[in-house]
Amino acid sequence: MMPSAAKRLFTVPEGVDAQDYPEYFGILVAALSGLVVNFILFVAFAYINMFFLMSLSVSGALFWSMAIYFVRKKRFVAAVNIGVFEMMFHVGIMVWIVGTVYGAQLILWPAVVYAAFSINKNKLQTKLMGYLCLIELAALYALVPEQTNVRPFENYASLIFLISTVCSAIPLMIVLLSIKSVQIRQRKQLQYRANYDNLTKLFNRGFFDTLLEYDNKTLADGGGPFCVCLADIDHFKSINDEHGHKIGDQVLVEIATILNRNLRKSDAVCRWGGEEFAIILRRCELSSALPVIEKLKNLIASTTFSSERLTVTLSYGLIQANEAETSDGLIKRADVLLYKAKRRGRDCIVLEDDS
Ligand code: GH3
Ligand code: MG
Ligand code: MG
Repeated sequence: MMPSAAKRLFTVPEGVDAQDYPEYFGILVAALSGLVVNFILFVAFAYINMFFLMSLSVSGALFWSMAIYFVRKKRFVAAVNIGVFEMMFHVGIMVWIVGTVYGAQLILWPAVVYAAFSINKNKLQTKLMGYLCLIELAALYALVPEQTNVRPFENYASLIFLISTVCSAIPLMIVLLSIKSVQIRQRKQLQYRANYDNLTKLFNRGFFDTLLEYDNKTLADGGGPFCVCLADIDHFKSINDEHGHKIGDQVLVEIATILNRNLRKSDAVCRWGGEEFAIILRRCELSSALPVIEKLKNLIASTTFSSERLTVTLSYGLIQANEAETSDGLIKRADVLLYKAKRRGRDCIVLEDDS
């Protein structure tokens, strides 16, 4: 079982957006790794009595503890800034003392990426930190010899260099992978927002248009017949007026759920406008589409909606698509019928043969 302190550490604090979780864990894990690395350095330098480098590790551990404190307080920018500063400061002094042969300078690569990982809105600050890390890296190579007079663990220099390389590459890879996963998630979210209606979670008009275009094309290429139905809630304005907009929204969501649940998977339903829905019934002629819409109509009329237990009806215009007809033409035909249904007193389905 995870000790409770560690459990608390890995519980995302309240108020952090779900979309910021990768950043939260990224910054936290980096800070914890910083702490562990400093502890290892402390032990190693204590072993060979290098007091100055030992105290540098103590200060490093303090900085990373501060970074952990700040990330817990949701001050991500401060946490990252402290971490980057610690890496620059610590690496600078350490390499200056022992030379570049141990590869400590390599940690400046993940420091650059770590700075860029920050959710810092101040891009100039982020860039500046990144460039400072790179300048420091170049300066260390230019000014510090490979080996100095101080040579701790001299016989293990190439092994330590290898460890430094791996320790620099792993965080780099983790950060890049988490940036990628954030990117993929955002792309999916954008796609969802572009195709779905936020309130009812049905397809939106734009996506429905695309589907209609596709079905028209399929029909022209010899695909099966399909029907389109436009449906509009009757006297919806009075529901809003009498019970409030929130109840109106609830009614819209519940109707959308009924439409979605009672159509075949191959059909498509969208929120066409405010209180108007559009349905594509695929692979069926008018004669088989009508009973489907009738069933929906009866189901909705016999359901009570929202916490106010309201009864609601819709008016419907139903058509079968003709070959070589545009999507606009199709919708216009259905809309004319819907208008007729309203004039006939609502709560009815109107077809083109006027039945
Ligand atoms: P009709 O039977 O002729 O269709 O009457 P109606 O009241 O339904 O039609 P009207 O066009 O006069 O009013 C539509 C109402 O739908 C007005 C608008 O406030 C409401 N509406 C549109 N979108 C939303 C929404 O997202 N949420 C809520 N609660 N109401 C909405
Ligand atoms: Mg209406
Ligand atoms: Mg309307």
